[in-house]
Amino acid sequence: MAGLYLHIPFCPSRCSYCDFYSTTRTNRCSDYTEALIRELKSRKSELSEPFHTVYFGGGTPSSLSIGQLERIWTAIHRHLNTDSLQEATFEANPDDLKIDYLKGLKQLGFNRLSIGIQSFNDHFLQQMNRRHTAAEAVEAYDNARRAGFDNISIDLMYGLPQQNISDWTQTLNKAMQLRPEHCSAYHLSYEPGTRMYASRTNAVSEETSLAMFELLCSTLSENGYKHYEISNFALPGYHSRHNSLYWNGTAYLGLGPGAHSYDGKRLRSWNPGNLDAYLNGTLERTYEQLTEQDYTNELIMTRLRTSEGLDIRLLPTAYISKFRQKLQPWLKNSCVEMENDIVRLTKNGIFVSDSIIRDLFE
Ligand code: SF4
Repeated sequence: MAGLYLHIPFCPSRCSYCDFYSTTRTNRCSDYTEALIRELKSRKSELSEPFHTVYFGGGTPSSLSIGQLERIWTAIHRHLNTDSLQEATFEANPDDLKIDYLKGLKQLGFNRLSIGIQSFNDHFLQQMNRRHTAAEAVEAYDNARRAGFDNISIDLMYGLPQQNISDWTQTLNKAMQLRPEHCSAYHLSYEPGTRMYASRTNAVSEETSLAMFELLCSTLSENGYKHYEISNFALPGYHSRHNSLYWNGTAYLGLGPGAHSYDGKRLRSWNPGNLDAYLNGTLERTYEQLTEQDYTNELIMTRLRTSEGLDIRLLPTAYISKFRQKLQPWLKNSCVEMENDIVRLTKNGIFVSDSIIRDLFE
C-alpha cells in the first residue's frame, strides 16, 4: 500500500494565519502543470508498490483549470499503475467550487473532496482573509453534493482572536446540519511571519481553548463521528485513507515544491519550497536517512495522534522499560491510558499532546 501526493502551490491571496509554502503567482499554473508531469515521469520508479490513494493538496489545487488537471490525471494513468486506486482527494476553496468545475472533477475520477471552509461566520472569515463568505461556503457544499460527491470533508478552525463559545457553537451547528462525511478541526496557531501573528495579544484564553475543544469533541461524537486522530473526525467508514498513510508509516511519493516523500522504511526526502527552481529544473531534493532514534520518535509521535494508539512492543527493546517509566506520571494524571500494551491519549491528553509526545521521545 502506498500513496501519491501532488502539491499545487498557488493561492490567489494569502490567508492571514497561513505559513504553508504557496505563491500568489497563479499565472504560472500552466508551466507548473508541465513541470509536475516531468517530475512524475522522472520519479515514478520510487513508487514501487501499487498505490491506493492520491491527494491533490495545497496551496489551492482549485487554482488549476479542469484542462490542466486532466493533463496531470492522464500522466498519472500513463506512468503509474492505478488499478488499486481507492481514494482520490481534491482540496478546494469554496470560491472555486462552481457546479461545472465540480462536475469536471467528478468526471476526472476524484471521489473525495476536502473543502477549506474554516468558519460559518463572516466576521471570522474576514479576519482570516479567506476569499469566501459563509453563504458561499454553503453554496459550494451544496454544489458538491449536486455534482455527485458523496465523500466530503470540511476544514474548520477555532481559537480565533476574540472568538467565543457561542461563535464556535454556531459554526459547529451549521457543520452538523450539512453533515459532511469527514471533518478536520484545527486550533489556530500563531505562526511568526503571518499577518495573524500581530493579533496574538487577542488570543483566546487556555480555558476557552479547552472548552472549545471539548465542545468540538462532544458535538461531533453526539452526531456519530469517530474522533480517529487528534484533529480529525469521520462518520463510520469515511476516515481519510491518504492521511492515515502518514500516521501509519506507509510509503508515499510527494511531488511539487515543498512536498515530502517517504519510502516506508528509513528514507525521507523533500523538495524545497522554491517555484522558480522547480519550474526551471534546478531544484535539489534533500534526503534524510532516519536513525533508529528518529524512527522511534516518529513512531511515538504519529501513532499517539491516532485513536488506534501506540503498541509499546513496536519500540526498540532497549527503550521499552524507560518508556514505561516515562509513561507513569501521564497515566496517573489520566492524560494517557494503556490496555494490553497499547497506549492512547485520553481527551485530557489530546489537549496537551505536544508536551506528552515530547516527554515520551527517546
Ligand atoms: S488557501 Fe490554504 S494554503 Fe492558501 S494561503 Fe489560505 S490556508 Fe494557506
